[in-house]
Amino acid sequence: MTHDPFSRWDLTPVINASGTMTGIGAARVPKDIRRIVNGILASFVNMDELQSRAGAVIARLTGAEAGCVTSCSAAAMVQTVAATLTGCNLARIEALPAVTGARRVLLPAGHMVNYGAPVDQAIRLTGAEVIPIGTAAACETWHLEAALEEGAAAAFYVVSHHTVRENEMPIDVFIALCREHDVPVIVDMASEYDLTGPIAHGASVAIYSGHKFLSGVTSGIVAGAAELIRATYLQHFGIGRVMKAGKESVTGAMAALESWEERDHEAAGMEEDARVASWITELAPIPGLTLSRHDDWTGNPIRRARIDIDAGSAGFHAWELADRLRRRSPSIVVRDDLVERQEIYLDPCNLTDDEARDVSAAIHEEAARFRACGDGCRTSWSDIKRARAVSAVSWSGHAS
Ligand SMILES: *Cc1c(COP(=O)(O)O)cnc(C)c1O
Repeated sequence: MTHDPFSRWDLTPVINASGTMTGIGAARVPKDIRRIVNGILASFVNMDELQSRAGAVIARLTGAEAGCVTSCSAAAMVQTVAATLTGCNLARIEALPAVTGARRVLLPAGHMVNYGAPVDQAIRLTGAEVIPIGTAAACETWHLEAALEEGAAAAFYVVSHHTVRENEMPIDVFIALCREHDVPVIVDMASEYDLTGPIAHGASVAIYSGHKFLSGVTSGIVAGAAELIRATYLQHFGIGRVMKAGKESVTGAMAALESWEERDHEAAGMEEDARVASWITELAPIPGLTLSRHDDWTGNPIRRARIDIDAGSAGFHAWELADRLRRRSPSIVVRDDLVERQEIYLDPCNLTDDEARDVSAAIHEEAARFRACGDGCRTSWSDIKRARAVSAVSWSGHAS
């Protein structure tokens, strides 16, 4: 039997031009990290000790007092909120989601977004009550102050391209106000490269995914104040058990952080710039496409190629192209969260140079096929959304 999972279980290879997406296996884990994870898999280790070693690595990289590793950021969101409800009281930890005492958790209304699942659900899972602050496009200081005056167990802040940017309260203002009222602030930084910012601003906890830009094994990294981190870790005696981080997650996150520390970020950035520049040159001649370089919304050092599609002259909608690319073999996955605006983004961070060329070639091929067949504008955006929902709920756990 082959050890290659693709041939062993007949899996479709994927070329990832979308960045880091859970739906296609998150990160391409580099060899140095894989080697360390491999080293722990065949052994036993005291998990309390391993987690406290992880805390030291996390503290060093984030400037926080302490840290621990969870199974993913979503689990970290649940367990850090739980920590603010229970402290280190084991009886309270076992009692969740029944909460004794304060259970209000403040969340800017514009941060009530979906990262794959709803942010507010991760908070509610603990038994907490979510109190939205302001409205979707306006979170003002007086909204937050009024809610803080009524008391809260915690306040939650999301840094992400998913949030509503209009009148978003700056993170430093949010944290300062919460601190004035002694309310701990949890910051979801799952996809953000800035490992030190939130803690430097006074956040009680910052959460990062180990498997996004850090390219590690699926894991969540929690950095923060020592007592809150202890209460977060202790959730494994309660609701944390259903989202257990095993030895491979913990070592994977530690290795990812140290590998990140040692990586030559400038060289990696230059490689990515070159890939984006090649895409712009290679794809610009396709009728109806406008190519440009796009920097990340939240200030991450991410550059992408942006493709604006004029469906009239291209002969296809952005979503038709994205779907056609995904159905190829190898499947090519582009960044399609803004296809409703006829925009596609190509992210160079998880590709080899060969794969980047394959992406260009495939887009040329599919665009030519649409022009030849004239079938690229058959579906509306609502049709496609409905079809995607049908496809999502048609997943089956048996051979098709
Ligand atoms: C990806 C993401 C999450 C979830 O991260 P996982 O580690 O995959 O659970 C949560 N919040 C934001 C803003 C994200 O981008």
